[in-house]
Amino acid sequence: MSTPLLSVQGLTITYRRPGLERIVAANDVSFSLERGEVLGLVGESGCGKSTLARAVCGLERSESGQILFNGNQVKPLKNRRRPPHLMGIQMVFQNPYASLNPRRTVASQIEDGIRASPKAERWSVTELLEEVELERSAATRFPHEFSGGQRQRIAIARAIAAGPDLLIGDEPIASLDASLQSKIALLMRKLAFESDAALLFISHDLAVVRVVADQAAVMQRGRIVERGPVAEIWEHPQDPYTQRLLSAIPVVDGLGRLPG
Ligand code: ADP
Ligand code: MG
Repeated sequence: MSTPLLSVQGLTITYRRPGLERIVAANDVSFSLERGEVLGLVGESGCGKSTLARAVCGLERSESGQILFNGNQVKPLKNRRRPPHLMGIQMVFQNPYASLNPRRTVASQIEDGIRASPKAERWSVTELLEEVELERSAATRFPHEFSGGQRQRIAIARAIAAGPDLLIGDEPIASLDASLQSKIALLMRKLAFESDAALLFISHDLAVVRVVADQAAVMQRGRIVERGPVAEIWEHPQDPYTQRLLSAIPVVDGLGRLPG
């Protein structure tokens, strides 16, 4: 068997806050992700989705378990600097300002991504702007000159520029107008495919995940309670928690999808 792109085994992460109870944000989490796969990670706010995403990027210290990316162990980063073997993981956050520097032009930030790419074939800034449907003139402008949806497109372009093997979106559409959400989500899916990368798409919006992902993992209080093909889970959820989550989505067209 070949090595999975990402393998998370028995990962447990706890937070201790003075005077408060210990929080187990990830509780013995195991899953793997293959190249080209689109995995939707769903679950209510506070269930541990972001903790898991940060851990995969080397931004969390685990209590036990391990994370392997391309067979290399992911360890907590020292001063947030990533070793070369982890440059293949790129993250897009809910707030695009978390990925973008407000004081630098769009072009210079996308160029950072291009320089970081380990791939032989590199994008140009113009090509990437075209891919994310922004005008060429966007290159010389600054993040604050764009709308939320446009900023998220810039953050996606920057992540794709770096030639990722794994693209992670941590609620990348949560701050956008409903009319833009599916569009941006599908753009991430398309670009991940074109880059031959896996996509880990985190969202509490089950309707969007249904459309974007092929596989889904459902998380509840730090545990993955169900994992499988999206179509199967949405039609025949096995876990009571998944059943509750799904029954809470307004069913509009039979797929639990909202119009628009
Ligand atoms: P989600 O992304 O699914 O909303 P998080 O991973 O952000 O969930 O949080 C999981 C749990 O861990 C929550 O109870 C949250 O309050 C707690 N938590 C997250 N980050 C920290 C932190 N830095 N310190 C203490 N508790 C945290
Ligand atoms: Mg979160």
